Amino acid sequence: MIDTDTIAAISTPLGEGAIAIVRLSGEEAIPIASKVFEGKNLNEVSSHTIHYGKIIDPETKEMVEEVMVTVMRGPRTFTTENVVEINCHGGLASVNRVLELVLGYGARIAEPGEFTKRAFLNGRIDLSQAEAVMDLIRAKTDKAMNVALKQLDGKLSKLVEKLRQELIETVAHVEVNIDYPEYDDVEEMSHQMLLERTKKVYDQVEKLLETAKQGKILREGIKTAIIGRPNVGKSSLLNAFVQETKAIVTDIPGTTRDVIEEYVNVRGVPLRLIDTAGIRETEDIVERIGVERSRQALKESDLILFVLNYGEKLTEEDRKLFEAVDGLEYIVIVNKTDLEQVIDLEEVERLANGKKIITASMKEDIGMDQLEATIAETFFEGDIDGGDLTYISNVRHIQLLKQTMQALKDAEQAMEAQMPIDLVQMDVTRAWELLGEIIGDTVQESLIDQLFSQFCLGK
Ligand code: GDP
Ligand code: ZN
Repeated sequence: MIDTDTIAAISTPLGEGAIAIVRLSGEEAIPIASKVFEGKNLNEVSSHTIHYGKIIDPETKEMVEEVMVTVMRGPRTFTTENVVEINCHGGLASVNRVLELVLGYGARIAEPGEFTKRAFLNGRIDLSQAEAVMDLIRAKTDKAMNVALKQLDGKLSKLVEKLRQELIETVAHVEVNIDYPEYDDVEEMSHQMLLERTKKVYDQVEKLLETAKQGKILREGIKTAIIGRPNVGKSSLLNAFVQETKAIVTDIPGTTRDVIEEYVNVRGVPLRLIDTAGIRETEDIVERIGVERSRQALKESDLILFVLNYGEKLTEEDRKLFEAVDGLEYIVIVNKTDLEQVIDLEEVERLANGKKIITASMKEDIGMDQLEATIAETFFEGDIDGGDLTYISNVRHIQLLKQTMQALKDAEQAMEAQMPIDLVQMDVTRAWELLGEIIGDTVQESLIDQLFSQFCLGK
């Protein structure tokens, strides 16, 4: 099942644009590289060493690139195979030629994620760690990156393993009961104990799932819409975000999702200024499509920043917007406090119905701090902890954890109904299997293929 042929791809590391790396992995990685390399004989150098030289086309003897080549022999490599990394600096064209050359001399182009897939298949990392590699590639802020790094470090895996261990012990206990049914009191006692143990695991899974909302936000950003009638200062607010917090532009090369998205970093929380259905910077959304439909459109965002004008009376349109956002997550920003107050703040308070109201002046740069603090508080209770908590953020993990909870609930009900103990055992075993899928212990190959195909090329 495990391929050992040598794969190659351009794999440019995080955060480094100027240097491009052609990476090879597999049985023949070193001999293939040495065929196109002029310098030391790579077949004879020690492992984990780096060498200066030239890439030449063996047929024409033409020099393609000056390079630094790193030679790493398995198993102490990312894939556990022999790995060669050719560091080029001559721009995309020559990097492509280097890649073409190694492909011409026996390597095959890697599928997206194939390096990471090999690391997984060779037992170097588990599935949740492989997924963390993907998160790392896409991380928008340092906090998001920390979460991914923790996962890569195996923090989630260890937690899941611990829960599985508890379940397997529980199953073992049930096993004893089935094998020695004559011990009546053992049966009695273990019923109670089983109930307690499953409950304990259930609670922990539930707690883990509670982090999912935050995890998703760290991973994908808070989908944010800025609304308000014309001239209240929506564009100014947007600009304030972009200037104050540096805008994060993500451009993931080699994926089908080659889009430039607009993100800003608010205290480690990525704010994603969405632009679907014209929600962002809506001038007259309510006028245009009506309260009910604008509500539907606004529902797609995690957060709405609703801007009002301090220097003007509330208008009918403002009131309609309050209707449209009723029940959604929003923050009111009363902008232009540098002007004379005309707005009736008591009415604003009444309409906002307990939601946070921030007075601000984009012109005088007042209020952004408070706004940012409020956003952080709304989504992380002020405590954005990318370091210590294990955030669940992966949709696949969330689904598996939910199914695990259901299986444990079933087990609990079966126990309470005094069902035969082997039925209980089936439910608990199912929960154990579901948790195993998170770390890739019990997953099917098709799922693995699908997961890894989401990676960028060269990872
Ligand atoms: P939008 O139509 O809601 O996007 O509003 P803009 O951001 O384009 O701002 C409309 C006008 O209000 C512009 O002339 C801004 O310079 C001005 N403006 C924005 N914020 C403030 C503020 O805090 N105080 C004052 N006095 N003017 C502001
Ligand atoms: Zn505008």
